[in-house]
Amino acid sequence: MKAAAFAYARATSVVNALELLAVHGDKAKVLSGGQSLMPAMNLRLLSPEIVVDIGGLAELRGIAMRGGVLVVGALTRHVDLLRSPEIALHAPLLRDAVSHVAHPAIRNRGTIGGSLAHADPASELPACVVALDATIVARGPTGERRIAATKFFKGIFETALSSDELLVAIEVPVTGQGSTFFFQEYARRHGDYAVVGLAALAVVAAGRFSDLRLGFFAVGDRPLLAAAAGKLVNACVNRGLLAEAAAALTNELDPPEDQQATAAMRRHLATVLLRRCVADLLARPELATG
Ligand code: FAD
Repeated sequence: MKAAAFAYARATSVVNALELLAVHGDKAKVLSGGQSLMPAMNLRLLSPEIVVDIGGLAELRGIAMRGGVLVVGALTRHVDLLRSPEIALHAPLLRDAVSHVAHPAIRNRGTIGGSLAHADPASELPACVVALDATIVARGPTGERRIAATKFFKGIFETALSSDELLVAIEVPVTGQGSTFFFQEYARRHGDYAVVGLAALAVVAAGRFSDLRLGFFAVGDRPLLAAAAGKLVNACVNRGLLAEAAAALTNELDPPEDQQATAAMRRHLATVLLRRCVADLLARPELATG
């Protein structure tokens, strides 16, 4: 199918993009890499009157450390996350996760800002920013505001952004000594959307978790920061405790049923990922003492 007719404006600056969004309101759609917007328009799931192309705005691109925070511009492409030494050093969870996003052709165009604004509950990067306790920076007609990633995702394809705002950057706190991460997903084929996935960040000392953030995806209408993790923190993790945490996790989940999996299967896979994550993180020799 082809998209319905639409007008096209290429923004010359962030200010210009915001002016265009202010004029056209919810009749406009922002275009970054177009890897989700264009298919949705071609399938006529979306029919904006005007597309505001921000893809040429260099001010929204790049990765930099500022005051102990890693700032990732909204237009940073998936391939840039894969190749960046700063990401490898300070936020390796993002690098591992992004290698599971689609295929090279899509990763060459798709952006982190587009992925987060799109808010697909089966997407890898939203769960990562929740696990990383990142902050989403939005700019609108009245200036900039910062939204905790845990409050940013509101439902399927729904975020805290309003139609006159742009997502401009993501701020990722840099983790300290003893911090480690885990990423795994079940997908039918590499590059497919996940059936269930887990992006986790942990601080481990002397064989115990002093912090554990479990960001599950494809288990509900938005990424879930699992409260069940609390059971495993500052505790001697044994089989019994892990079973308790797994039971608490299944109660927290409200997974969808679709052609990929039943809700029961998704609940089961989430507990498998939880067990793998805990076993993997506690077995890392570099974190065994401290
Ligand atoms: P766009 O398509 O340009 O925009 C997406 C949405 O976000 C639009 O609604 C747009 O208006 C809005 N938007 C974009 N940028 C901004 C901004 N800065 N501020 C405010 N709103 C904005 N994704 C995964 O996560 N995992 C997968 O496994 C996966 N597999 C895929 C397989 C295929 C075959 C395809 C076609 C896509 C797949 N995707 C997958 C989706 C895709 O990778 C991402 O959703 C995409 O990269 C989003 O970034 P983009 O820059 O292309 O966003």
